[in-house]
Amino acid sequence: MTHDLLSRIPTGLFIDGTWQDASDGSTFAVHDPATGDVLVEVSSATAADGLRALDAADRARADWAATPPRQRAELLRAAFDLLQERRDDFALLMTLEMGKPLAEANGEVTYGGEFLRWFAEEAVRIGGSYGTNPEGSGRTIVSHKPVGPAYLITPWNFPLAMATRKIAPALAAGCTVVVKPAELTPLTTLLFVDLLREVGVPDGVVNVVPTSDAKAVSAPILDDRRLRKLSFTGSTPVGRSLLAQASENVLRTSMELGGNAPFLVFADADLDEAVAGALAAKFRNTGQACTAANRFLVHEDVAAEFADRLTARVEAMRVGPGTEDGVAIGPLIDDRAVAKADRLVTDAVERGAVVRTGGHPIDGPGTFYAPTVLTDVQPGSAILTDEIFGPVLAIATFATDDEAITRANDTEYGLVAYAFTEDPARGQRLMERLETGMLGLNTGVVSNASAPFGGVKQSGMGREGGAEGISEYLETMYTLTPDPFRKRSTTTTGDAR
Ligand code: NAD
Repeated sequence: MTHDLLSRIPTGLFIDGTWQDASDGSTFAVHDPATGDVLVEVSSATAADGLRALDAADRARADWAATPPRQRAELLRAAFDLLQERRDDFALLMTLEMGKPLAEANGEVTYGGEFLRWFAEEAVRIGGSYGTNPEGSGRTIVSHKPVGPAYLITPWNFPLAMATRKIAPALAAGCTVVVKPAELTPLTTLLFVDLLREVGVPDGVVNVVPTSDAKAVSAPILDDRRLRKLSFTGSTPVGRSLLAQASENVLRTSMELGGNAPFLVFADADLDEAVAGALAAKFRNTGQACTAANRFLVHEDVAAEFADRLTARVEAMRVGPGTEDGVAIGPLIDDRAVAKADRLVTDAVERGAVVRTGGHPIDGPGTFYAPTVLTDVQPGSAILTDEIFGPVLAIATFATDDEAITRANDTEYGLVAYAFTEDPARGQRLMERLETGMLGLNTGVVSNASAPFGGVKQSGMGREGGAEGISEYLETMYTLTPDPFRKRSTTTTGDAR
């Protein structure tokens, strides 16, 4: 099954509707993090290839923008349907190149696919407005147009969903795109783009340039006047540098960056629900999610029981290759990720944290870290400020609501927060006071295609999904005309109304 699937994955660049080699013939290897084995070699785009992809997107721009919205919608809907038919291929491929357990990869096919269905529905609802100005002397017609060719850069942790969350709204809005998938997990994007070709997305509308040198390929594209939009999902440091580059060309930008999500458990919380929410918010994707709960702040009255219940559940988690039945914790993406998790745990323990379970890397093959619960995490520990991106659950305690909220907000990030409380008024106060783009109130999962995903502060700007998602790819213009009645009243007698 694995061999058969890999033999069917396109491994080239996709430019102007054709699969092709890199212009200098170079390739790079994609590995299975569960074994360290090479899965396949993929063509590595050069800077010139990147610009050829932009040429194609620019050539296709006018025709795609003029394609009726219903036709754009139906192509996205056909892609959604075919993705469901090919679900098993996409799920297995994600597990192979990224490591997530197969059941979660299946969940990502569902989640990622929903962006195709959602934006198929949004494509035909791009509205505008018509209104009278306050003086009554004119009429304002507000309309929306596709922003133009867009460059989409995606991370490795959700290989399908991060691609569909950008490609679907861009195509729905009438934009053509150049996609640069993460070098660690390009295969899912390549297979997905082949699916778009198969359902009939016209040549040049979607182009893909996998590369082992993201900077060299991206800089000339960002510098090119024909590009009008950058949408990036990835780490905050890379996002900052791309924003600086985008400023030279005054690009529209959407930035989905890093997080440091607080997970608050109040004394009145339903602890069964809180434990279930914690497991989902922490261990989904083996902790490698921008939405992963990073800091557990638990009221001191319930912290011991919360930690006991969680530890029992975490000790029972099976660790192994994501392709094996019953595995809850797959490998981390690479050696650096294992070293980072271990460094943060070691630092926390040196500062007084207690290891309840786990707390160490697991010998290879593959890049595994034992699922870990730490309690008594002390202020000043790096694990409270750095994105862990691994299966490590770190618990500290609080005494009052004010303390909980102040500590939750004490971070440069503001992507998501989670809170468990049975008191609706407290929930509402949290909604108003937490500095975050998203809040999971009594739930450990917030992602949904119908909701505007995104962060505040250094977690980024712009929203993906929801009614807001398509507007990231639309320009707003207005046309002003004189009051048509007043004009006529100068040529006719009496009130023409
Ligand atoms: P990363 O920033 O290292 O890489 C992201 C993408 O940027 C990759 O495609 C990479 O090749 C590319 N890239 C790196 N340097 C570049 C450069 N100089 N020029 C152009 N492109 C460049 O992030 P990652 O390790 O792939 O992903 C993990 C990070 O992504 C975490 O911080 C996580 O929180 C964040 N993330 C955020 C969201 C969100 O929606 N907010 C979602 C998923 C992941």
